[in-house]
Amino acid sequence: MGLFHNLTVDEERDLIQRGRDWQRLKSDAGYGSITWPVEYGGAGLPGAYESAFRRLEQAFVTPRIHEAVSISVAIVAATVLALGTPEQKARYVPPLRRADDLCCQLFSEPGAGSDLGSVATRAIRDGSEWVITGQKVWTSGAAHADWGYVLVRTDTDAPRQRAMSTFIVPMRSAGVEVRPLRQMSGGSSFNEVFLTDVRVPDDARLGDVGAGWHAAMTTLGIERTTISVASSGGGTDLLGRLTSLARELGRDRDPQVRQGLADVYVLGRLRSLNGRRAAANSAAGGGPGPAGSIGKLLTTHRAARITEVVSMLLGPRLGADSGEWGTFAWAEFVTGVPGQRLAGGTDEIQRNAIAERGLGLPRESR
Ligand SMILES: Cc1cc2nc3c(=O)[nH]c(=O)nc-3n(C[C@H](O)[C@H](O)[C@H](O)COP(=O)(O)OP(=O)(O)OC[C@H]3O[C@@H](n4cnc5c(N)ncnc54)[C@H](O)[C@@H]3O)c2cc1C
Repeated sequence: MGLFHNLTVDEERDLIQRGRDWQRLKSDAGYGSITWPVEYGGAGLPGAYESAFRRLEQAFVTPRIHEAVSISVAIVAATVLALGTPEQKARYVPPLRRADDLCCQLFSEPGAGSDLGSVATRAIRDGSEWVITGQKVWTSGAAHADWGYVLVRTDTDAPRQRAMSTFIVPMRSAGVEVRPLRQMSGGSSFNEVFLTDVRVPDDARLGDVGAGWHAAMTTLGIERTTISVASSGGGTDLLGRLTSLARELGRDRDPQVRQGLADVYVLGRLRSLNGRRAAANSAAGGGPGPAGSIGKLLTTHRAARITEVVSMLLGPRLGADSGEWGTFAWAEFVTGVPGQRLAGGTDEIQRNAIAERGLGLPRESR
């Protein structure tokens, strides 16, 4: 039920493997990428089919999907499909879509998270190759990835819109070092990644030289939508569990608890309706638009409201294993909520995006 994993390295590897097996099974049966073009292994169907499949899938017990798999399938493969050359699509998309290969997203750095325009990792051209040096951080799934999709600076003078480029780097290259980071929710599913004189050929570049900002914005749009339609809590029926807990504790008639449960229900419904709007916008060819940011905010608001209700119900028992039914498992969920608010762009950044790109309000000064 936790938002992140609290597992050993071996347990995490097993979890990833189960997710890969499930993704392969779905792909081979034609349900892996329902909205994708047929020539890249999709079914070429509208988003409504994808939503219907997801609803059905959630009614069954299926393997929990680790970020290493969802980032590869839903974010990187989708980005290559949008921006890659025909050769790159043929090379990267089929194995990523089927989770045969895993790819992590190397964007954030110690000095560049919300403001990716400050990315300092450099790629310098050397004949037909590029040499990449820098440090990335918070990279989910890097320890298990075959590839890294990296945002780098290729021009130190140009404005951000023309200063960056993106590459697909083999994570087993000489000069790539991955160091796991421990999260407060227990596990170490994200990492620091050090790149020291890592050499890649020019055909590992995704998009034109200097077009990395556009690539990054494309990826972040896909990521927001992915987070906003994914089910929080790994497919667990959180509202159902919360309601059962309130009943078990004899608090289900408490007006404050009832209000909280109603809010969680309403936020869940809004998120699902907004997800349909994002899918309809994308199907109409306009991308998800502000619906992606709205969906991500609804996801984090709902998780924060769940935290408030469960804290109201359990008080100090939230953090101690008292052995009572339904109590301790919530600690893992609650400690994951702050991470969820940051990952894929913080709440504040989503609000800025809605204000500037959705409502047309004046841009904040940068
Ligand atoms: C669980 C998890 C997984 C992640 N996985 C990945 C990954 O796989 N790959 C990857 O590249 N990154 C990943 N990240 C990093 C994530 O994208 C960044 O944490 C996020 O973009 C915020 O950057 P930052 O942590 O540097 O915070 P900062 O950008 O330093 O922000 C600090 C605070 O300032 C606020 N702030 C910053 N700028 C503004 C502004 N303009 N207006 C208003 N408020 C502002 C922020 O909202 C935040 O509250 C992950 C993060 C988490 C928590």
